[in-house]
This record gives sequence, structure tokens and C-alpha cells, in this order.
Amino acid sequence: MKTQQQVKRGDAAALLEAAQRHAVDYIESLPDRRAFPDDAALAGLSVFDGALPDQGLDPRVMLERLQRHGSPATVPLAGGRYFGFVNGGLHPPALAARWLADAWDQNAALYVMSPIAAKLESVCEAWLTELLHLPADTAMGLVSGTSTSLACGFAAARNALLQRQGWDVAADGLFGAPEIKVVLGEQAHGAVFKALAFLGLGRDRVVKVPCDDQGRIDPAQLPALDDRTLLILSAGNVNSGSFDPFRPLCEQARAAKAWVHVDGAFGLWAVAAPGTQPLCDGMDLADSWSADAHKTLNAPYDCGIILCRDRSALAAALQASGAYLEWSEERDSMLYTPEMSRRARGIDLWATLVTLGRGGVARLVEQLCDHAGLLADLLVKEDFRILNDVVFNQVLVAGETAGETEAILKALQRGGEIWCGGSQWRAAPAIRLSVCGAETTPDDIARAVAAFVDARQQVRRQP
Ligand SMILES: *Cc1c(COP(=O)(O)O)cnc(C)c1O
Repeated sequence: MKTQQQVKRGDAAALLEAAQRHAVDYIESLPDRRAFPDDAALAGLSVFDGALPDQGLDPRVMLERLQRHGSPATVPLAGGRYFGFVNGGLHPPALAARWLADAWDQNAALYVMSPIAAKLESVCEAWLTELLHLPADTAMGLVSGTSTSLACGFAAARNALLQRQGWDVAADGLFGAPEIKVVLGEQAHGAVFKALAFLGLGRDRVVKVPCDDQGRIDPAQLPALDDRTLLILSAGNVNSGSFDPFRPLCEQARAAKAWVHVDGAFGLWAVAAPGTQPLCDGMDLADSWSADAHKTLNAPYDCGIILCRDRSALAAALQASGAYLEWSEERDSMLYTPEMSRRARGIDLWATLVTLGRGGVARLVEQLCDHAGLLADLLVKEDFRILNDVVFNQVLVAGETAGETEAILKALQRGGEIWCGGSQWRAAPAIRLSVCGAETTPDDIARAVAAFVDARQQVRRQP
């Protein structure tokens, strides 16, 4: 006779094995999947409607329901023909590590809650400092994504700039504090404005610096900076993929004792590849940096990174206290994040970095850029207009007229062969493609171009 406990353990094992089978099948199906669910798959989501059951559902039925009706309604972001937003594929070794880490059910807040999580975060901190050519002893915190990372960097900047004016923001708040000037490029990402709003720095009381035709800040247009200025720069314009000219901007900021933060959600990784490293010249002169490992690096979600030159400024801005907290001599990761409890995403990050190695990271970045370049070249051959200089992984495409561009985008999104989104570029509609997945092959690029040609034919056939 098995005990109740043994039966339960057997059930858990069977359930986990079933989940693993479904997951492996899913990954193997990626090359053949539509790039967006069809109407039947979306209609199938109605099985999830209904009230919370009184009695819990049989776990096997739960999993079957997810597999049968959930899986068809996923968007295969990790497939080779997904070019929407700026996302990122899936590095399978990191997924394996994540599964194991999730089974460990670690809380990465404190060393005493998870020595392994603390260890691997320390290792990642040192590796990233070197890989990204940052100053020695740069501090790293792992958050959900760049939106949160930006808020962490701006909080450190705000507190440090005001501390120098003799004002303690953490204790006394912002009312009555000396003013901080926020300077940014007019094309800064929406997440930058959200973080500024969230921190009481104001979305609208910023100085927007005019940008050139690729969306880069023009250093000649930079206003006077001072030691109460936060200057926000961009490594990877979210439309064009361009990089601000860091060296002249950071040198001016340093001379003025301003704080510089770099939004490098997907572009910070450019510095790790010889081919794109020149785009990042002078980036190490900044004070803090944001990046996402779940974008260019293809780590699993959610793996945002805050990096800060001044370790104590970051820790002071995000500090929590409580008599029950047990600080250790080792790494206590909650010093560097707004959260206390959180999953041990450093394990996924470590697994990604250790299995790619320095060479693998460089090759991944260069592969994404090469595929973006190939995509642009092939589209030009088919008489599409490329609106940006393709310096990284972003490609902006247009048809002959604004109306045609919009219609082609709609036809592409309906077609299901590829998925990409739209944007505005220089006051006109653009189709925006981001090559972010390691899975994308030259064949996928050729299929994407064929989908564009098809979509344009459909549009032109219509009266
Ligand atoms: C994706 C992105 C963000 C927001 O990052 P999340 O991880 O989605 O929160 C901010 N800035 C840029 C340039 C981005 O590409």
C-alpha cells in the first residue's frame, strides 16, 4: 500500500512529466506555427470563461485544458518568423535551468534564503561588468524588465543628485526639494517617461533635445548641464535601432557632474560584439545602464537588468529595512532591486551566459544584425523603401504611399506567415521589424520578404 504522501508525489511527477512533454512538443512545433493565432484558436479561449470552481479542478484536466486551448492561442515569439516589437527568442539551455530553478522554488531576496541564487547573481554581476565593458565594481540588480530597471536607475540618480544638495529624498520626499533637470532625446522610449512620472520627476517637465534623422541626440543641441541634471541616453532607438553619440555627450555630462543613464534595453549588448562595439564608444562613461536579457540575449522572460557605477547609490535608493532581515557577508540581492521576494532569475541569466560564452554572445548579436541587414537588402531589391540606416537589428519599411504601407501591414498581420508591427517614423507610417531571435534563419528572412511581396500584391489587386 502506498501512503497518501507517496500517491501525491507520484501525481506531481506525472504532471511535471506531462508538462515537459507538452513543452518539448511546443518548441518542436515552432518552425511550422503561424506567426499569430488564427480565429479558431482565439475563439477557443472561451473555454477559460466561467466562475472560479467551488471544488478544485483535477490537475490533469487543468494541464490538458492549457495544452488543448492555451497553446494554440500563444504567439510564437520564439519562432523564427516573429519580428514584432522588440522581443527576443528563447535560449533552450536557459529554459532548462529555469525549470530546475523553479522546482527549487528559491526566493532570491537574501543570501540566507538562497545561497545558490546569491552566488550566481554575484557571478553574473562580474561577468556582465566585463562583457559590457563597464567600470570595475559596477553593481547589478535583476528586475522584471527595463521599465523597472529605468525606475531603479532614475531613483539612484535622483537621490544621489539631491544628496549632493544636502537633501535626503528617501527621508524627506520631493516636496520642497531643490529641482532636478531631466534632459533626454526627443525620441526617448515611452518607458522612460513612465519611470519619470512614477518617481515624481514629471513626464512633461523634461528638456527634450532635438535628434538627427536617425533619432540620435545631436550633441550640438545639448542644453547646459549641471550637477543637478539627469541626462538620459539611448543605446538602441526603439524604431531605428540607432545609438546616441555617447562619448561627446558623456564627456559634457561628466564635466558638469551630471548623472547619465543609458536605456539599452536591447542595444546595450552591442558592446559585446566587435562588429557593433563602435556604436557604444564612450558608453562606459555613464553612471547607470538598463538592459534586458530577455531581448537580444534571448534569455527567458523576465530578466531586466539595472547596472550602476555607484554601488551604494543604487542600494541606498532601493533600501528596505526590518528588524527580521538577516543581512549577510555575502550578496543580499534585495539591496539592488525594489522587490523583496522574487524568483531567482539570476539562475536563468547565468545559464544563458555560461552556455553562450563571450564568443556566443558576440555571434548572437552579430547574427541578429546580419539578418536585419539581409532583410533590408532583399526588401530593397523588391522595391520597398527602407527608412532607417540599419546599424543594429531594427528595420523600418514603407510601401510607395502612406496608405499602401498601412494596408501592407494589415495584410501581413492577417496572413500569419510573419508578424510585425507598425510605427510612425518622421511623421509617416512605417512597418517596423525587429530581428531578435537566435532561431531566425536566412530562410526565415526569405520567407518574410516573400510575405511582403505577397501582401503588396494583395493590396494592389484591391480596387
Ligand atoms: C523594451 C524596451 C523598454 C521596456 O522594457 P521592458 O523590459 O519591456 O519593461 C524600454 N526601452 C527600450 C529601448 C526598449 O526596447
